[in-house]
Amino acid sequence: MRIVILGAPGSGKGTQATILSERYNIPHISTGDLLRAAVKAKTELGLKAKSVMDAGELVSDELVLGMLRERLQADDVAGGFILDGFPRNLVQAEALDALLAEMEQPVDEAVQIEIDPEVIVGRLAKRAEEEGRSDDTEETVRNRIRVYEEQTAPVVGFYGDQEKLSQVFGVGTVEEVNARIVGVLADR
Ligand code: ADP
Repeated sequence: MRIVILGAPGSGKGTQATILSERYNIPHISTGDLLRAAVKAKTELGLKAKSVMDAGELVSDELVLGMLRERLQADDVAGGFILDGFPRNLVQAEALDALLAEMEQPVDEAVQIEIDPEVIVGRLAKRAEEEGRSDDTEETVRNRIRVYEEQTAPVVGFYGDQEKLSQVFGVGTVEEVNARIVGVLADR
């Protein structure tokens, strides 16, 4: 199963992708996690990405695509994957489509977790206290939400046009939201 999880920052994409990865036994590929690992390891990519991430802007398509292309070549991807944090704009969505077509492994379903931006600000303020992510400050969070609305929201329509879109309500417990996602995936 090849799934894309869509949703605003703080919508719970990462949490849900981790649970789905265990349930379906397929890797969870998070471009945010891959980038944070590169920042931590101080690789060339990480050094380029850090200031962009801290400002809540998008890292360049070229860098992120190169990183993802490499990750999708690993052996563990043969049985499918859950993509979290990618695609984040229409250029990335088109590029992913082309890459997966080449691999003969198209996306099966995109699941959007829907949530109100004000709920997000509260959630991320809490995460900032717990995890100390450097891009969870209130100002950066607001910018990330704006970037999401301007650049990532159109990706929802991209999968809608392909009739590969499911939407689930993102408020509730982790288990409740997970059950909704599992439900829509079972219906496909
Ligand atoms: P969130 O969804 O909560 O914003 P992520 O971990 O997905 O968190 O992303 C954190 C940051 O990493 C983004 O704000 C952005 O700077 C960078 N990033 C992650 N994925 C991408 C991507 N596909 N394209 C460009 N930048 C990305």
